Amino acid sequence: MRSRTSERLLYGTSISPGLAEGRAFIYTDIFLRDHELYTIDTSDIKEEIKRIEMAFREVTEDLKASAERIERELNTHMAAIFRAQIEILNDDVLKREIKNELETELINSEQIIKRVFRKWELRFRQLDDETLSCRADDIIDLGRKLLSALTGIQAHTLEHLPHGSIIVAKRLLPSDTVFLSRKSTRGVVTEFGGPASHTALLTKEIGIPAVGKIKDVISIIRHRELLLLDGSTGHLVINPEDKTRRRFQKRIYERRSYLLDSQKNCLGQCVSKDGHKIEVMANVSCRKDVESAFKNGADAIGLFRIENIYLSRKLPPSTQELMKEIEKTIEPAKDKPVTIRLLDVGGDKKLSYLNHSLGEDSFLGRRGIRFLLEFPELLYTQLNALTELSKDYNVRILVPMVTFSQEIAMIREILDDLMANSSDGKKIPLGAMIETPAAALCIDDFLPYVDFLSIGSNDLTQYTLAVGRENSSITQYFLEDHPSIMKLLRMVVKSAGTMPVSLCGELAGKFDTIPSLLENGLRILSVAPSLIPQVKQVVRES
Ligand code: PEP
Ligand code: MG
Repeated sequence: MRSRTSERLLYGTSISPGLAEGRAFIYTDIFLRDHELYTIDTSDIKEEIKRIEMAFREVTEDLKASAERIERELNTHMAAIFRAQIEILNDDVLKREIKNELETELINSEQIIKRVFRKWELRFRQLDDETLSCRADDIIDLGRKLLSALTGIQAHTLEHLPHGSIIVAKRLLPSDTVFLSRKSTRGVVTEFGGPASHTALLTKEIGIPAVGKIKDVISIIRHRELLLLDGSTGHLVINPEDKTRRRFQKRIYERRSYLLDSQKNCLGQCVSKDGHKIEVMANVSCRKDVESAFKNGADAIGLFRIENIYLSRKLPPSTQELMKEIEKTIEPAKDKPVTIRLLDVGGDKKLSYLNHSLGEDSFLGRRGIRFLLEFPELLYTQLNALTELSKDYNVRILVPMVTFSQEIAMIREILDDLMANSSDGKKIPLGAMIETPAAALCIDDFLPYVDFLSIGSNDLTQYTLAVGRENSSITQYFLEDHPSIMKLLRMVVKSAGTMPVSLCGELAGKFDTIPSLLENGLRILSVAPSLIPQVKQVVRES
């Protein structure tokens, strides 16, 4: 029989190209983590109850402070969510159940909280009433908060990774990766996640390799085991023998010199063989991305995803806070155009302070612009912050997940009002993301309200082909360059006429598809910073 320490090879799906050698860091949600389990004496019950009560008090205080701040600065609707969570914590039935469980099971508080909150979560999930079943998310969120308070673990584990780690996880959600230490992460392996998944975007953005679709990966690999990861083929070696390791290190060296070569030419102009000047812009979500974008020869920032600013906080930012956060990120862009996309939550991105569950507000629910129109205070904070920033930066505003022309018309009206009242009267270009087939088919209706268009092929693919971008069991159907998508791209470019159209989905960085993108009339590509030198090289050879 093979020992667990001998070399093993696993096959997954390529998510982000590149090679990495590193030690496994098994990442699981705090709720799934193995907390210490120990028995207690009946004489300890009082002490354990005291610990639980303290955790309840700490979480309640935290929620109260959040509710008060949000009421003061935003609106009562959102504050109600925190108040509802406080109510759950005050529920006598819940408290009694925790006490009974402790007295009968005689185990430590962490385990009791996990058991009771799991039970409550399941009870709520099974209810027919949709509003009540959504409360299951609140319950699990509270369970997490109580566990953090009990264990004292406040910091996010991905923030303090040992250097040279390869993260091994079931899946990585945006709320997990906000805190991820980019310096210490060499690669990512997940059980779920396809080519347009959040993991794919993040890993390409940082320029690290990633492999997905390895079943039961977190039980197969052990914490700190040595791994060799090939993000281009989707192969993973666990515990490599010396000769495998040496061969792999040679490949890492060769790849590095190839990348260095394309890097040498990255600042030059990018003109295709038939003489078209192609603009290559960058997709970013933090300052490091912006710095590496310009180092790699980006002409502009084509897509700044601002979700991290919202996901990393307990409360939504005020206008001033948002301005500060955005400015911190875009400062290295100086006079270059920076396209900032309004908040795109829903889908796979959940804000803990908004009353929404990812089940209900999945990719076909409230998302992007739909959310912003429902929570106008979120919208105004962003538009005010961006109008202010436009005094010092070359800001362009991009609206996500537009389906109906009325949606973009509403934003146009609000933005025009704000600009009219702004001291310098500067015009900020407004653009719509084209990521639903409806929008792609009705470009004419959008043209009166926008100054530019940006095609989001990740969502356009999922909505056109009816293939969930996070569903790893159907990645073989997620074909970003399917003839239907290429046809839609061509139609958008044609209907847009002289209006600039960029492509900012993952398709723009697929080297072998670039020639046909150019043939279909695309002249602006926006890709992860790490891909810019190679994209420019491919365009020059196309
Ligand atoms: C897209 O859908 O292609 C896109 C760029 O937006 P996101 O990946 O952030 O949904
Ligand atoms: Mg999108």
